[in-house]
Amino acid sequence: MTFLITEPSPRGREDLAAYRTRGGYAGLDRVRAEGGRWALEQVAAAGLRGRGGSGSGCPLAAKWRRMAASAASDRYVVANGAESQAVSQKDRYLLTHFPHRVLEGLLIAAEAVGARQAFLCVRGDSGAAVEAARRALAEAETAGLIGTVAVAVQPTVPTAVSGEETALLDALAGLEGYPQPQPPRPEEAGLRGCPTLVQNVESLAQVAALFRHGPERVRAAGTRTCPGTALFTVTGAVDRPGVYEVPYGTRLSDLLRMAGAPPVDEILAVLPGGLGSGPLRPDELDVPLTYEDLAALGTTMGTSAVVVFRRDGASLPEVVRENVGLMAQASCGQCQGCKEGHLALARALEAGDMAEARRRAEVLLYGRGNCALPTGTARFALRALQSFPETEWQALRTRPEAVPRTQR
Ligand code: SF4
Repeated sequence: MTFLITEPSPRGREDLAAYRTRGGYAGLDRVRAEGGRWALEQVAAAGLRGRGGSGSGCPLAAKWRRMAASAASDRYVVANGAESQAVSQKDRYLLTHFPHRVLEGLLIAAEAVGARQAFLCVRGDSGAAVEAARRALAEAETAGLIGTVAVAVQPTVPTAVSGEETALLDALAGLEGYPQPQPPRPEEAGLRGCPTLVQNVESLAQVAALFRHGPERVRAAGTRTCPGTALFTVTGAVDRPGVYEVPYGTRLSDLLRMAGAPPVDEILAVLPGGLGSGPLRPDELDVPLTYEDLAALGTTMGTSAVVVFRRDGASLPEVVRENVGLMAQASCGQCQGCKEGHLALARALEAGDMAEARRRAEVLLYGRGNCALPTGTARFALRALQSFPETEWQALRTRPEAVPRTQR
């Protein structure tokens, strides 16, 4: 098995001395010697893709190039460890056990794009992760590793949208922490109107690994379009829930076996990418974990949080209603289409009106607000409605309360 960012298995927090014996911060030294252009070439050569919760897997090099193209003198780099979905634990895990790997990646990114100020944002209710990040920063400062970059650890207030990159920048600026319309992208006008590179903390740990091992080692794992490894949180009906690092392209069924999932005929459905990803049927679990393979099935990598539902533990209608209800509660409410669209979808599901639910989900799918939350809900609901057999929906039709409220 190939591990790039979580080897060896953690025993508590990896401190500076331990990280340095494993080659830690040698990559940063090299970037400082070779320069930002060289660093960007290495990131492009490795083909690294973003590990944030949008699930788009945007190439890091594209973001870094947009930053490099700006003539602005003030610019920022932000490590996004806000991790707003409760089912995802990978970012907290990484920060708690391997904070220096994230910090080195953040410093490399700052060097590469010419930023003099950087923020390491950590979900504020994860005390262990915040403490580990602070201690790592203190160790790096004492050892003189920070250079001319001013770095601050910033705990975030967890909300359902606090991990969205423009919401994170809004919060960093002292505002409400709501997602903002795009364009402009953060790389064009982000924090305080200046170009800002926002990268998920796992992406930054992957950057540090790239400069420790070289692009060939990254390319040796994963697939041609998705090089390297990725962290997946596996949760739900499994015997060994936790965070797993596996190469991209690993079959979902193999990851489920590692985590102790029940036999396929006992599985009801699996979410491959958290609450905003379309559920997969038991006969679809051999899908390779790449952005493209999941998209071909009409779902997404999302937050890389794999949630397993057992057939005897839940019915499909219950799962769908509960998930849509959670997403409706998660809406921050500033965009009318998102707020009303979620409520209308939830009402249609509650009433057992599947045709209306499908219509509402289709409306919600496109352009209903400033962030991807409504798209995620719609994708989840549509895939459930379209891909699961009629028999899975029987419970919805037979529930006595599955009657429009106005007819009771
Ligand atoms: S789309 Fe929804 S969650 Fe996103 S900013 Fe608008 S109201 Fe908030």
